[in-house]
Amino acid sequence: MNHKPYLKQFPDEKGFFGAYGGSYVPENIAKAMEEINTAYNLIAQNSDFIAELRKIRKHFQGRPTPIYFAHNLTHKYGGAGIYLKREDLNHTGAHKLNHCMGEGLLAKFMGKKKLIAETGAGQHGVALATAAAYFGLECEIHMGEVDIAKEHPNVVRMKILGAKVVPVSFGAKTLKEAVDSAFEAYLKDPINSMYAIGSVVGPHPFPKMVRDFQTIVGVESKEQFLEMTGELPDIVIACVGGGSNAMGIFSGFIDDAVELIGVEPLGMGDALGDHAASLTYGSEGIMHGFNSIMLKSSDNNPAPVYSIASGLDYPSVGPEHAYLHHIKRTQVATISDKEAISAFFDLSKQEGIIPAIESSHALAHALKIAPTLKGKKILVNLSGRGDKDIDFVVEKYGYGESL
Ligand SMILES: *Cc1c(COP(=O)(O)O)cnc(C)c1O
Repeated sequence: MNHKPYLKQFPDEKGFFGAYGGSYVPENIAKAMEEINTAYNLIAQNSDFIAELRKIRKHFQGRPTPIYFAHNLTHKYGGAGIYLKREDLNHTGAHKLNHCMGEGLLAKFMGKKKLIAETGAGQHGVALATAAAYFGLECEIHMGEVDIAKEHPNVVRMKILGAKVVPVSFGAKTLKEAVDSAFEAYLKDPINSMYAIGSVVGPHPFPKMVRDFQTIVGVESKEQFLEMTGELPDIVIACVGGGSNAMGIFSGFIDDAVELIGVEPLGMGDALGDHAASLTYGSEGIMHGFNSIMLKSSDNNPAPVYSIASGLDYPSVGPEHAYLHHIKRTQVATISDKEAISAFFDLSKQEGIIPAIESSHALAHALKIAPTLKGKKILVNLSGRGDKDIDFVVEKYGYGESL
């Protein structure tokens, strides 16, 4: 019997979680990924690196973020106790800064001068631009022209933070083209720059590295929950886009008898193109350099996906989620746009916390199952705050009267 903790066992040294993960990239990218992997393995053991990251988390990010007992919601739903891990209180308002600061520090230790990435809605771009400013690194964010027009406030934020936003004007001018453009820019100068992926996706070592940087959410949660209640939660729930906030909180409880539920966006319904529920409806395939479960169209290419939450709008999922679901260590649920918006208003009006629409998916599932689980405790990862979403929500749903 193998008693090594799960996190030390997975992934293997090639980046596999069972059949999922790995690195399926052209030779020039493989070389660059190998360099990042070697540096990360060295630096992750380095006491200066660890001490520096601790200092940053405490004094710059404002960690640990609290766990909050949502007493009004718990009372309203009359079942399980509902607790929230408040990643919305992490600096910049979401969990993404946890891995961006790690990636920035790694780049600094590697002697890099520039961080490069793509962004869809701009959340990853803003977090990375923040990290770049902190470390005195240049930052170049590639973004489709369609997204630039849609996500104006985040474009402004990135520029204020000193990042260069590169408009991508070919193809559909959205996330996929932005990935191609960013990789191309990176491969022009892999010596001085580092590519920084925004979730637990992409070729090895990114799914491992981003997970490792996010484990702080789970480590804190376990300690705080025990201190608050004297026991572990029965159920931990997080939304899953690429899967970084979910892996962060799950990793704190993965070796314990705690139920772990990932929530995928059902969007407008279960027809292909109307949702982004990759684990629920997808099949095995390779995309963006890794093997996982993905949504495919009839020509075997990534299917078009949709969710009201732009951070969950991705046709694949981190390989570790594919593995954990496959071995039945995690469960997957789906939540529609409408259910997510209803939870958005519930938390705002009941507790005075406006959540990100992404996080509202996780909360919505907790509210759905809570009434029948009296005596149990549910911990929800509130991955981000909803300031970015308020104009859009009010325009589409008013102040929630009709929900
Ligand atoms: C980006 C984002 C997500 C989705 O990303 P994961 O990698 O699945 O965590 C979830 N919540 C918020 C607030 C985000 O900004």
